[in-house]
Amino acid sequence: ITPPSTFVLESRFAQELGELSVPWRAEDVPDPRLLVVNDALAAELGLDPDWLRSAEGARLLVGNLVPPGATPVAQAYSGHQFGSFSPRLGDGRALLLGEVVDAGGRRRDLHLKGSGRTPFARGGDGLAAVGPMLREYILSEAMHALGVPTTRSLAVVATGRQVRRETLLPGAVLARVASSHLRVGSFQYARATGDPDLLRRLADHAVSRHYPDAAGAEHPYLALFEAVVAAQASLVAQWMLLGFVHGVMNTDNMTISGETIDYGPCAFLDAFDPAAVFSSIDHGGRYAYRNQPVAAQWNLARFAEALLPLLHEDQDRAVSLAETALEAFPPQYSEAWSAGMRSKLGLPGDLDDGVASALVDDLLVLLQQNHVDWTTFFRALGGTARTGAHAARDLVLDLPAFDAWAERWRAVGPDPEVMDRVNPVHIPRNHLVEEALASAVGGDLDPLGRLLEAVTAPYDERPGLERYAAGPPDDFGAYTTYCGT
Ligand code: AMP
Ligand code: MG
Ligand code: MG
Repeated sequence: ITPPSTFVLESRFAQELGELSVPWRAEDVPDPRLLVVNDALAAELGLDPDWLRSAEGARLLVGNLVPPGATPVAQAYSGHQFGSFSPRLGDGRALLLGEVVDAGGRRRDLHLKGSGRTPFARGGDGLAAVGPMLREYILSEAMHALGVPTTRSLAVVATGRQVRRETLLPGAVLARVASSHLRVGSFQYARATGDPDLLRRLADHAVSRHYPDAAGAEHPYLALFEAVVAAQASLVAQWMLLGFVHGVMNTDNMTISGETIDYGPCAFLDAFDPAAVFSSIDHGGRYAYRNQPVAAQWNLARFAEALLPLLHEDQDRAVSLAETALEAFPPQYSEAWSAGMRSKLGLPGDLDDGVASALVDDLLVLLQQNHVDWTTFFRALGGTARTGAHAARDLVLDLPAFDAWAERWRAVGPDPEVMDRVNPVHIPRNHLVEEALASAVGGDLDPLGRLLEAVTAPYDERPGLERYAAGPPDDFGAYTTYCGT
C-alpha cells in the first residue's frame, strides 16, 4: 500500500491544454465526513483506503489537501444541450485534481464534483447534494460491475454544508475516476476558439490517451473519429441491452473514451417500454430509451464537425470522409445489439440470422404489450431454458402468445449458461436506489451498503439478497429523475 507521500498527481491535461484549463481550488470544507469509499478502486490507484478514511484522506477527497506538484483545474468545454449549442459550459461545480498512473500503468483522472463554484458556474452554486452524489456512486459502480465502460466512483464525502434546491439538502462531494474527461464538447470548444493548433493538440492528446493505434494510421484524426464511433456504438448497444436510459445525452456528456459519464437523470427500465423517459426536463422524449442510438449518432456528427479542419485541407473532402466514417455507426450498433440479444436469449451461434431476429422482434412486441419487467424476464428465461421453470411465463399476461413464442425459442436449443452470464439478477432498481438514498440522507448507511453489495455482483444470485432481485412494488408508480442536483 502506497503511503500518501508517494501518491503522485500528474497534470498532463493542464500542461498540454492550458487553453482548456483554468487553475482553480475547491471550496473549503471545514468538517468533511466520509460516507462511502471504494476500497478496490482506491487500491488500484495506489491509495490506502484506510488512509482515505482518515481526516487527511477526507481532505484530499474534497480537494482541500492538494498533493505537492498537483494543479487542479476546471476544464472548459462547450455542448449541445437538447440540440442547442452552448459555447461555454465547462466544469461549473467540478475540478480535475490531476491524473494518477494506476497499478496497471493506465493514466486515470481524479476529479471532484460538487467542490464549489468555478469560473464556469454561471448561475449555479457549484455544489452537489448527498443524495445525487450517492446515486452516481451506486449507478456508476453497478454499470462497471455489469461490464459497461464507465466513469468510476472513488468516494462520497458529506460536506456538512447545506445546499439550496427546492428544499435545503445536505451537501456532498463525489470523487470520480475516469480514463479521461475529454468530451465531444471539449472538441467543440477547441474548434470554436478558431485555433487550429489547439484543436490538433487536443486530438493528439485524445489519441495518445485512448487510441494510440490511431497515431500510426494513414489519417490519424480520421482514425480517431472512427475509433470513437466504434466505441460509442458498442457503449450504447450495451445500455440498450441492459435497459439503461442515460437521460441527458448532450454532447458535453459524451466521452471520447467511450465511457458512460454524467449519472444525473439516468435510470434502468423496469417494465419494457421503448418510449421510456425518466428525466423531469426531457419533455419531448429526445433521450427516450429507443432514441439513444440516434442521439449518439447525432452527437458523433457534431464531433465530426469539430474535427473537420484536421480531417483534410479540402473541407469538402473532409466532410465526405467524415460522412463515410459516420455511416459505420448504424451497422456497428446493430451488430452489437443483435449479438447481445442472441446472448440474452441463449441462441446458438450458428442459428440463422433471420430466425434469430424474428425471435427477438416478436419477443420485444410481447414484452412491450404485456409491460413485462425487462431484467427479471431475461434472468427468469434462463431458468426456463435450464429446467422449464415457469417464472418467465408468469410475468406475461398473454399466455397463449408467450407459449407460442417460447415453443419456437425452445426449439432452437437455448443455452442457459450463456444467458446467465449476460442477464443480470441485480440492477440498481429505481425503488431500491430511492430507498437507499432516503436512508443515507437520514443517517442510516446500511441499506446503501446492502444495495452496493447486490449491484456490484450483478450476475450472482445470493441468499439474503432476494429482495434486491425483484421488480418494483405495484404501488411504486411513475419514476422521475433530475439533472444538476
Ligand atoms: P449536466 O447537465 O450535469 O451535464 O451539467 C451541465 C452544465 O451545468 C455543466 O457545465 C455543469 O458544470 C453545470 N452545472 C450543473 N450543476 C451546477 C451547479 N450546481 N453549479 C454550477 N454549475 C453547474
Ligand atoms: Mg455533464
Ligand atoms: Mg450532471
